[in-house]
Amino acid sequence: MDLAKRFGTPLYIYSYKTIVEHYLKLKRAFLKIQPLICYSVKANSHLAILKILVKHGAGLDIVSGGELFRAIKAGCPAEKIVYASVGKTDREITEAIIYGILFFNVESEAELININRIAKRLKKVVQVAVRINPDIEPKTHRFITTGKITNKFGIDFKRAYKILLVKDKFSHLNICGLHIHIGSQITESAPYVFAIKRMVNFILQLRRKGINLAYLNIGGGLGIVYNKETPQTAQEFADKILPLLEESGLKIILEPGRFIVGNAGILATRVLYIKDNPKKKFVIVDAGMNDLIRPALYGAYHQILPLFKSDLKGKEKVDIVGPICESADFFAKDRVMQKVKEGDFLAIMSAGAYGFSMASNYNSRLKPAEVLVKEDKAYLIRERESYTDLIDKEIVSSIFNR
Ligand code: PLP
Repeated sequence: MDLAKRFGTPLYIYSYKTIVEHYLKLKRAFLKIQPLICYSVKANSHLAILKILVKHGAGLDIVSGGELFRAIKAGCPAEKIVYASVGKTDREITEAIIYGILFFNVESEAELININRIAKRLKKVVQVAVRINPDIEPKTHRFITTGKITNKFGIDFKRAYKILLVKDKFSHLNICGLHIHIGSQITESAPYVFAIKRMVNFILQLRRKGINLAYLNIGGGLGIVYNKETPQTAQEFADKILPLLEESGLKIILEPGRFIVGNAGILATRVLYIKDNPKKKFVIVDAGMNDLIRPALYGAYHQILPLFKSDLKGKEKVDIVGPICESADFFAKDRVMQKVKEGDFLAIMSAGAYGFSMASNYNSRLKPAEVLVKEDKAYLIRERESYTDLIDKEIVSSIFNR
């Protein structure tokens, strides 16, 4: 509550210790095979968080020129960067080749042709991994499954096989790996085991044809606790898939995002008003879907806890909503929770991943401040935006001064 008062709300608060601990949990669980753990920048792309992880040895998984820029600024060695995305532009590809990233995760034949063309122009041979769409159901929200054939990601096995058989026709590509990312917030190991088994069979099939690869990138997607989930631990996950990964004989890459930062952050908010109607009671807070869009976008559940000991007794059923002019602007519906009143502070839990990185200025709202707590000190790592930030890039004079 002190931080919320000191820095104002809405406010993202992250824990340095938790970020590092989560990274080390994965590192330890997979110690035997020494994978390259490339933190998925999209989950939370704050430079300070990237720097923390890079400093502890992590690589980075990026999906845009902007994320490459951040990775470079964070001092991430080029040979620890992998780059996915179904729609990389020529500019983005060129910048990544010049920086010398480890490899591109390529999502289509058209992209292979394009990267080859650009590499030729730059007189470079570029490493790429083919992203496979293994067509499996990872049992998560339909918006965050990425490994079904109806999803836009990756290339199906049949086509990938054909491409790999003639991989030498790409004069400036070294097709050296395979990639999968089957979805996000996956709490069980079964979908991974299934997908990785298919990948290992594929790798062995290729090897029999004399096609030898160097890397297997198994993506991210490890689920965390938001509500009552009991996700596999890093160790349980490793125990299940390590034998398969060893069988592949390849260098393994992991791309965790949410697992590292999800439960390392909260969004602190203040109660502005309480109102009710004949059917509902609403707690209106000063954070909105522009600050944290997950409930609006996926109906995602976040625990919401008071940041204080209330003087109000008892519980009640409420909707916790933001100030934005959309009915989707909510954080909880029909949630039974401790009674709160105007001016109280609440913590929206598990907000470290896909929180600030998905924030927008919708309704001309200012993006919130961010604070990182390390030991007993709190560091402001991003200032709250100002009104002038809102219009900084807008150009009106060219229309009105004619
Ligand atoms: N790798 C790829 C290719 C992704 O698309 C994503 C998320 O969408 C991730 C890694 C990170 O996923 P998560 O945050 O669920 O670990």
